[in-house]
Amino acid sequence: MRSKILLDEEEIPKRWYNVAADMPRPLDPPLNPATHEPLKPEDLEPIFPRSLIKQEMSTERWIDIPEEVRDVYRLWRPTPLYRAVRLEKALKTPARIYYKYEGVSPAGSHKPNTAVPQAYYNMKEGIERIATETGAGQWGSALALATCIFGLKCTIYMVRSSYDQKPYRRSMMRVWGAECFPSPSNRTNAGRRILEQFPDTPGSLGIAISEAVEDAATHDDTNYALGSVLNHVLLHQTVEGLEVKKQFELVDDYPDVIYGCCGGGSNFPGVCFPFIPDKLNDKKELRLVACEPTACPSLTKGLYTYDFGDTARLTPLLKMYTLGHDFVPPGIHAGGLRYHGDAPLLCSLVNAGIIEAQAFHQREVFDAATTFARAEGIVPAPESAHAIKPAIDEAIQCRKTGETKTLLINLSGHGHFDLSAYDAYNDGILEDYEYPEELVRQSLARLPKV
Ligand SMILES: *Cc1c(COP(=O)(O)O)cnc(C)c1O
Repeated sequence: MRSKILLDEEEIPKRWYNVAADMPRPLDPPLNPATHEPLKPEDLEPIFPRSLIKQEMSTERWIDIPEEVRDVYRLWRPTPLYRAVRLEKALKTPARIYYKYEGVSPAGSHKPNTAVPQAYYNMKEGIERIATETGAGQWGSALALATCIFGLKCTIYMVRSSYDQKPYRRSMMRVWGAECFPSPSNRTNAGRRILEQFPDTPGSLGIAISEAVEDAATHDDTNYALGSVLNHVLLHQTVEGLEVKKQFELVDDYPDVIYGCCGGGSNFPGVCFPFIPDKLNDKKELRLVACEPTACPSLTKGLYTYDFGDTARLTPLLKMYTLGHDFVPPGIHAGGLRYHGDAPLLCSLVNAGIIEAQAFHQREVFDAATTFARAEGIVPAPESAHAIKPAIDEAIQCRKTGETKTLLINLSGHGHFDLSAYDAYNDGILEDYEYPEELVRQSLARLPKV
């Protein structure tokens, strides 16, 4: 039986798939944060290149991938689709379990799939430097790699607590030539204001976004880049699902359920959006399951409404499932899943009942990650493990019913930089957090009135 389903380099997709062409109803537009009027392309020009703004607003179904970008993708794409034969045996399940492994990229996650085209389009439009924020460092390291490849400078504002506690992704950023500052920093007005008031603050993603956006908006040669949430990011990630469809053809199979973890919502849309037309047109019984932590349950407990993308209320208002822009989730180990909202395209499909969402506690997620690692060898990122948990549950259910379902997990990255989280789990000191209902309620009371 084939356990590793590989494609030839020439089969790296030539076009990205834009789900905006197939939405059951048009997306509610992003709004200007000051006027609450629909955002105009010009509003974004101080911080994004025109080609990406065009993609952000496009409803064309297929968008060509530049040859220069495909050339860089060749470094690690096409990524393998594995049949989890050993996991199936361990679970004694008749289900067929597959996983698409994005951990083979140089940065160890799916994030370079969008960092590379974003750096490329900025380079083409004469930009010399990109500023961005990073939490635990996955996005910062992906953008550092991409800017290095295209000869751009890169400035990364890294949340202070991670900067101090998680030095190794910062080390990678330096190897790839990026400069990385703990946020809040004294390089921006936003950072200086916070430091004056709270000199010992651990920082937050919201503050770091404010710093990076200010840096980009106040320097002509500098743009800003975001690693999730926005339409063009999800577009770039569809290389995952487009490859998976070809890989399933090779083994003459097709998924019954696709699982992906969900932080801002980019790796999961990347794998499942190319399947949306099948689901809508051919009425396939395909289930698409977005998996999130109970500690930050935006899709399962949030409100579907307009909210800011950041704490400082600088970004456009996006229609999304949100826990409130100033909601600060508990410090769970899946740092990449701690965003208060989710990508508008994904949220709209959840709202329409086409994609479903489930939330899981971190201990049961690490149980599943450990079962997976002991069967398949790969140590998954704690984020990715949220998608493994329900797949294992479904496979066990199949053992009881005798059903032979085909299950697909998107394994968004490896956990080599998250071993302290695995230690905490193995030492028995990992805590589960209940849904912080009171905190969410307080935060939702401060939603913008639109
Ligand atoms: C950043 C990250 C995530 C969460 O981000 P999405 O935009 O929801 O994909 C998930 N997995 C890994 C490995 C990450 O680095």
